[in-house]
Amino acid sequence: MPEGHTVHRLARTFDTLYAGQVLRVSSPQGRFADGAAVLDGRRLVASEAWGKQLFLGFAPADVSDVRVTGLTRAPDTLWLRTHLGLYGAWTFAGAPDAPEVAHAIGAPRRRIGERDSLPTSAPSSSVSDVQITPVTSTSDTWDVPEPRGQVRVRLLGAHAVADLTGPTACEVITTHEKQSVEARLGPDPIRDDGDPEAFVARVGRSRVTIGQQLMDQAVVAGVGNIYRAEALFRAGVDPLRPGREVPSAAVRAIWDDLVVLMRDGAEHGAIVTTRPEDRGTAGGRGRTRQNTDGAPGAVPADQAFYVYHRDGLPCRVCGSPVLVKELVGRNLFWCGTCQT
Ligand SMILES: [Zn+2]
Repeated sequence: MPEGHTVHRLARTFDTLYAGQVLRVSSPQGRFADGAAVLDGRRLVASEAWGKQLFLGFAPADVSDVRVTGLTRAPDTLWLRTHLGLYGAWTFAGAPDAPEVAHAIGAPRRRIGERDSLPTSAPSSSVSDVQITPVTSTSDTWDVPEPRGQVRVRLLGAHAVADLTGPTACEVITTHEKQSVEARLGPDPIRDDGDPEAFVARVGRSRVTIGQQLMDQAVVAGVGNIYRAEALFRAGVDPLRPGREVPSAAVRAIWDDLVVLMRDGAEHGAIVTTRPEDRGTAGGRGRTRQNTDGAPGAVPADQAFYVYHRDGLPCRVCGSPVLVKELVGRNLFWCGTCQT
C-alpha cells in the first residue's frame, strides 16, 4: 500500500496537470457513473493529500479566479475523495505539451507501494509512483488513449488524462463531509498543519503498543509499514512497548523524524532512511517493493532501510539479526538489541 509520501506526490501531480482546468470526468467501467456525472464539466480548484487520502476539489466551471482563498471551503465546492488501498493505481498519459512532471514523480511505471504478503518472485519493477506516458498528437489536438482495465474514474484535461483503477474508496463528498473525514484522521507529518502535540498526547494515552499505534491512521496519518519500522529503529524504541510507557520526548522525536523522512520521500519519490555511513555494512535482499530502483542517483532499495524486510540479516548498526513478527496482520521488523 502506498505510504503518505506517494499520495502527496499524486496531489502535486494533479495540481501541476489540472489546476484551474475544466475537466471531463467519466467512469469507463461504469461503477462511478453517477459521481462522474456530478463532477463532469467542473473546474479543478484544489488537490490535497491527508495521509493516504487524496481530495480533489471541483468548483463550478464559472468560477473565475481559482486561486481565491476560501474556495476550498466554499459550500458549492465538491470533492472527489479517493484511497488507493492495496490495489489501487492512478495511471497518467499526456500530450507532448503536457506540463513536465516526471522530475517530480520519480522512476518507472505506476503503482502500488509495498505489500508484505507478496511472494519474492513478484516483479521488482513495481513501484509506488507514476509517470506521464507521452502519446502522439496532431497539431492542436492529441490522441487520448483508450482506458485500460477497469477504470473507475477518468479525468481528462487539456493536456493529460488520469485513470484510476482498483481503489478502496472513490466518492463525491461535500466540503462539510470532507472536514468530517479529516477530523477522524491523525496529524499528517507531511502537512504544514500536522500537530505534533496531538500525536504525542494520543500515543501516551494508550496501552496499545507504539508499533501498532504508528499504523493507526487516527493516530498519525500517512505512515505505513516502512516508515513505521524505520522510524522506530532510528529512535531506538522497542515497537512492542505500550505507547503510554514510551517517554513523551521519545514520541516527539519520532514525530520530528517522520517529518524529515516523509517530506524527503514526498520530494524524491523514494523512501530512504539509512544514514550514508550505515549503508555499506550489510547486504539486503532487494525484494522490497519500493520505488528507489531505477531513479538516477537514488539509493538502491537494498541499502535504503535499516530493518524493513531485512529479517535474519545483520543489523547495520550492531550486527544482531533483524527480527520479524506479525502484528495485527502486518509484518513488523526491528532490532532487539538497538531498540529497547
Ligand atoms: Zn541493532
